[in-house]
Amino acid sequence: MSRVAELAERLRASVTRPWTLMEVCGGQTHAIVRWGLDQLLPEGLRLIHGPGCPVCVTPAATLDAALALARRPDVILCSYGDMLRVPGSAPGDDLLGARAAGGDVRLLTSPLQAIGLARENPGRQVVFLAVGFETTAPATALLARQALSLGLSNLSLLNAHVRVPPAMAAILEAPGNQVQGFLAAGHVCTVMGLQELEPLAAGHGVPVVATGFEPEDLLLGLWRCVQLLEAGTPAVVNAYGQVVREHGNPGARALLEEVFAVVDQPWRGLGVIPGGGLGLRPAYADLDARRRFGGFCGEAPGFGGVNSTSGDGFGDGPSACIAGQILQGRAVPTDCPAFGGRCRPEHPLGAPMVSSEGACAAYHRYRSAEATTVAAAAPAL
Ligand code: SF4
Repeated sequence: MSRVAELAERLRASVTRPWTLMEVCGGQTHAIVRWGLDQLLPEGLRLIHGPGCPVCVTPAATLDAALALARRPDVILCSYGDMLRVPGSAPGDDLLGARAAGGDVRLLTSPLQAIGLARENPGRQVVFLAVGFETTAPATALLARQALSLGLSNLSLLNAHVRVPPAMAAILEAPGNQVQGFLAAGHVCTVMGLQELEPLAAGHGVPVVATGFEPEDLLLGLWRCVQLLEAGTPAVVNAYGQVVREHGNPGARALLEEVFAVVDQPWRGLGVIPGGGLGLRPAYADLDARRRFGGFCGEAPGFGGVNSTSGDGFGDGPSACIAGQILQGRAVPTDCPAFGGRCRPEHPLGAPMVSSEGACAAYHRYRSAEATTVAAAAPAL
């Protein structure tokens, strides 16, 4: 019997009553949909998708700010590829469109490439749109440290980094929450370790299982989570021990601590989450694009900074898009009337269809009418 089949059997044998679990990470969502794991779950066990797509949760107002900067002739705006196709508040208004209209928008695969851009263009301002969870934030922190030590005066950050555990808490505290246990994102745990998850599990009485991304990893995480639920012992468990250490990556955590402070921050689709973001510390304030360029956009003052309390008026995109419900696990992409019709990867109406980690993109890729039945494609069952 294969490892996947063995774990699926263990899971089936463990479930004695209905449970609802959430996989937090968009990469896990893609794997689950790709391999049809949700279609293999025993009766009573429900899996819903979480908000773990960094592109999807970046507020529309931050995209608006990036668009405003990209339209300035003195600015080179750079970011990761997926961010270039995400619309801001206005439907269809994205960074690729700004580039087509003459803006200087560059795609980076590493934040450190912004250093080279700044050096090669001393007469212009380079702005890095910095997004993502605790996984990408250390690289941004390294960029900030190097920019400061090199004395680069033409490099700044439009920072929108977010923290995952506060979003998990917000989901549990939302009215009508159905989540009883989490599969925590293995790569976030690789950086941050397990300590941040302990108060979440203890305070809300839910099991949290650090989980990987392969079918075997996901089934192991589900099984461990169900075991904890059935036993009534909410705890944090590491089911991705080949990668995740209890204390994470101390070097990366120290870098984060040096450059960033925890701030309240709006998430697209979820509203302002207390402690949900990472703002630049005062020592790095000179690198803050919001400060450097002033009121260039609709973002509230202080957004993304240590003292940020903003968040009102951060749109979730065009009204046809139900991304907010999807990011909270209250709907699946096929519930959206626009799915596969007006909203497709070539013509995305919302971020979850743009991003390589977005749930809508996963469903479109693996569950469209043309797609091979996913369960049939699952490996070695
Ligand atoms: S299918 Fe498109 S419009 Fe619908 S929720 Fe997903 S991204 Fe938004």
